[in-house]
Amino acid sequence: MPYPETFEGFAIPSAADLLTPSQFKPKPFGDHDIDIKIVACGVCGSDVHNATGGWGNEHWPLVPGHEIIGHVVRVGDKVTNAKVGQRVGVGAQIFACLDKEKCNACATDNETYCPHLLDTYGSVYPDSGTLAHGGYSSHIRAHEHWVFPIPESLQTELAAPMLCAGLTAYSPLVRNGAGPGKKIGIVGLGGIGHFGVLFGKALGAETWAISRSDKKKEDALVLGADGYLATQTPGWNDEHKMTFDMILSTASSNDGFDIAPYLSLLKVHGRYIAVGLPEGEGWKISPFSLISNGCLIGSSHLGSRNETLEMLQLAADKEIKSWVETIPVSEEGVGKALTRVHNNDVRYRFTLVDYDKQFE
Ligand SMILES: [Zn+2]
Ligand SMILES: [Zn+2]
Repeated sequence: MPYPETFEGFAIPSAADLLTPSQFKPKPFGDHDIDIKIVACGVCGSDVHNATGGWGNEHWPLVPGHEIIGHVVRVGDKVTNAKVGQRVGVGAQIFACLDKEKCNACATDNETYCPHLLDTYGSVYPDSGTLAHGGYSSHIRAHEHWVFPIPESLQTELAAPMLCAGLTAYSPLVRNGAGPGKKIGIVGLGGIGHFGVLFGKALGAETWAISRSDKKKEDALVLGADGYLATQTPGWNDEHKMTFDMILSTASSNDGFDIAPYLSLLKVHGRYIAVGLPEGEGWKISPFSLISNGCLIGSSHLGSRNETLEMLQLAADKEIKSWVETIPVSEEGVGKALTRVHNNDVRYRFTLVDYDKQFE
């Protein structure tokens, strides 16, 4: 049975299995729901962590993909945020309680921290018991709060990766004061990190890229970075101690990671915000690495609906161009993209395209 009864997509039957073409049932259609026919989807590092079971995903089969762009094909009776035919996006969050009386996260534009939040795929809707499926598929059904109109001037394949990677960089930059007169460092130049540089600059901050070797220096400067630090260089941090207002770490591996020299870069009460979620154990932090500048360590999860809309508008206004490699959404294409993301072999994001060739 085709849409609207069933959606088609690529599913991973269980941890570390291969992707298989499959059909699945969406959740029951609600008054605030929107059905979207997908035209593109970014490939996120978390798709790999989830597909391999590295983050302990419990619900299978898994249809990954949470950087989704498509066209609205159906809206519920109460929908006000989108119209049929409109180009819209869906990111990595698909639900929160939105109860402004009972939930202090949802009452304060912090629905991304709601205790009832659901990830776009691999989570189960508590009311219907339906498994949520992502964008390696023909359609997605989403509550309108997590459906975002895409500004006309943004190209589909460049806008898709903003919906998870872009927002994961944008929200902590804004919330931690990146702007004119501030100096910020972006650790790790991958999917999220390259957005850190692009958005840091767009927000007006002096933006430095921090990476292990000099390999990505040229890219960082082309992206707009004002400076570059290679941590393999002995004494790399000496001259830069206590000069940064904020560091956004997007590092996706803990191997041999010593946080102390990074913290030494911060001014008094400067902030180190980590958004990378490497598998395995976290870092060790000695109180001695915090005391010389009284720095603060924190993290950040995605962003709010309002931040998503602001980010997309900023990208349109400043003509921000994500660095994207497109790849067809086929069994071969998806498999190749996941393998290359796993091997960090992408500059700096894949967007799956050609949906009309794969799905009816
Ligand atoms: Zn993601
Ligand atoms: Zn809530």
